[in-house]
Amino acid sequence: MTDSSTRVRPDRRAELAAALAAVRSRIADACAAAGRDRAEVTMIAVTKTYPAADVLALAELGVTDVGENRDQEAAGKAAEVAAAGAAPRWHFIGRLQRNKARSVVRYADAVHSLDSVRLARALDAAATGRDRPLTALVQVSVDGDPSRGGALPDSADPDVGLGAVAEAVASAPALRLAGLMAVAPLGWEPDRAFARLAEVAEWMRAVHPEATALSAGMSGDLEIAIRYGATHVRVGSALLGMRPTLR
Ligand SMILES: *Cc1c(COP(=O)(O)O)cnc(C)c1O
Repeated sequence: MTDSSTRVRPDRRAELAAALAAVRSRIADACAAAGRDRAEVTMIAVTKTYPAADVLALAELGVTDVGENRDQEAAGKAAEVAAAGAAPRWHFIGRLQRNKARSVVRYADAVHSLDSVRLARALDAAATGRDRPLTALVQVSVDGDPSRGGALPDSADPDVGLGAVAEAVASAPALRLAGLMAVAPLGWEPDRAFARLAEVAEWMRAVHPEATALSAGMSGDLEIAIRYGATHVRVGSALLGMRPTLR
């Protein structure tokens, strides 16, 4: 079903295959070093800025999960990939405005960037009527700086306090509370960031035992995230190459 516009050239396919093998072996080594079962860690290929053809090539190489951070880009790409006959799970990992909720729930299996009660309500309303709940991970601000997104641990804020956000997701019929997501803050050693995240995750599981997923670790720090319990690593540049612009 794949037509020429969604098919990569053989050299690109070989490049993706080699990068994928390298990332898979990094993940396996990190699991072995941490004494963890490899099956506990899902790799999400972050395909932002790269075309649908790359997603299809990765899917043909066995990648089951892909991540995108902008609705406008992701919606079109997901449609192209579906039209070509592939069905990876789409993870939305970027900052999300409430007015994009209706679009995102059409293609996303999971949203990792849920960080306010208001966004939980918007996604719940948008996902009502889907054939399956939307998997939701609450994004946590590890350094407590609200300007870069993320719910705030140890805060009683009714919109962005972590307790309030987790409760809103847990009680939303069209959402399934899966766990937490974080990005290591700029200027923090990944070790310190993921150690802090692991503490927050422990608190979360005490209150919401079903919230076992931990989405942490990117191309540069996935080994450290796996050491601190990551169940989902989001890998972009190590698989697809350096992106033209940082975002
Ligand atoms: C882009 C992005 C990634 C992937 O980053 P790489 O360093 O390219 O692996 C992971 N998580 C989020 C939230 C991103 O926006």
